Amino acid sequence: MEVSILDLKKQYHDLKDEIDSEISKVLESGYFILGKEEKKFEAKIKDYLDTDNDCIGVASGSDALLLSLMAIDISPGDEVITTPFTFFATAGAISRLGAKPVFVDIGDDYNIDVDKISEKINENTKAIITVDLFGNPSDLKRLRKICDDNDLYLIDDACQAIGSEIDGKKIGNFAHFTCFSFFPTKNLGAYGDGGLVVVEGDEMSEKIRMLRKHGSKKKYHHEFVGINSRLDEMQAAILNVKLDYLDEWIDKRQKNAKIYSDNLKEIINVPKIDDNKKHVFHQYTISVDDRDGLKEYLSDNGIQTAVYYPVPLHLQNCFDNDVSLSNSEYASSHVLSLPIHENLNINEIHYVIDKIKEFYD
Ligand SMILES: *Cc1c(COP(=O)(O)O)cnc(C)c1O
Repeated sequence: MEVSILDLKKQYHDLKDEIDSEISKVLESGYFILGKEEKKFEAKIKDYLDTDNDCIGVASGSDALLLSLMAIDISPGDEVITTPFTFFATAGAISRLGAKPVFVDIGDDYNIDVDKISEKINENTKAIITVDLFGNPSDLKRLRKICDDNDLYLIDDACQAIGSEIDGKKIGNFAHFTCFSFFPTKNLGAYGDGGLVVVEGDEMSEKIRMLRKHGSKKKYHHEFVGINSRLDEMQAAILNVKLDYLDEWIDKRQKNAKIYSDNLKEIINVPKIDDNKKHVFHQYTISVDDRDGLKEYLSDNGIQTAVYYPVPLHLQNCFDNDVSLSNSEYASSHVLSLPIHENLNINEIHYVIDKIKEFYD
């Protein structure tokens, strides 16, 4: 049996009529940047997130992070605390502005260990970027309190976590800035790049709306130096269709995850979820001995898996490698993500479970 880690073609074919018709409407309109589809998406996602914060479409999740840091004037000499166990973009955005990423180790849910943050705060610290890794929210309430107590900004890299919740409230309502990505493989994916920043407060929201248009409010008049970063009409139209299905897909991912965990928890480390959190399972990630052996065994049996992430950021050549963060290093050599997408069927899930059991028998 072949079990793939993604099935974007099937998802497209299920929605083909709706998507094709919306794309052709955009083409016929002759209007491609910051038009009515993008406006509609911003309103629709604001409603979905049930937030008073402003929702601003941008070109990617990476830009959402960069724009958030630009809005709070991060510059050389500044420090931003973050996790090393994430996709590169989280820390890359900090470095691009000449500031220093200060890495704090992760806890057993793979997110930043909140207890280890305070010792890293000094007079140069300006912000914390936390990541809701694999779709599981960080401890955003505790993080927000640390930020409020120390006059820091909280940026939530929620690029993998759209739809996730804490105490029944959606991510997007806890941080000063929440960043989402619509990269095609994300739970809500466009057919190209796309992103969103959810921004608290009128001042910052106006600033980001200007920053994404080269710092201008009035055309050809520039208040500061920004970048070009918009969610285009074609991607917005696609997302307007797909957003209606997101909760259904998350539901399916959660059901798949439960089957895995119920069947595997005795033999391997399954994802840990706090009772007050809704994990949307962008990835279903286990931690195992002989990870590379298991990966190869599953691959030989037709099962695709992936390692997120094989090298923690504090050990990347482009950063100072002056710290040792044991939990992140351990995770990098033990984690494995299994197929979890909404189009998996029950036979495929049980096939994966059987092969894992067989390997550890
Ligand atoms: C996908 C992702 C990003 C970047 O998103 P892009 O839209 O690809 O730029 C940033 N952070 C995390 C944690 C991600 O998973």
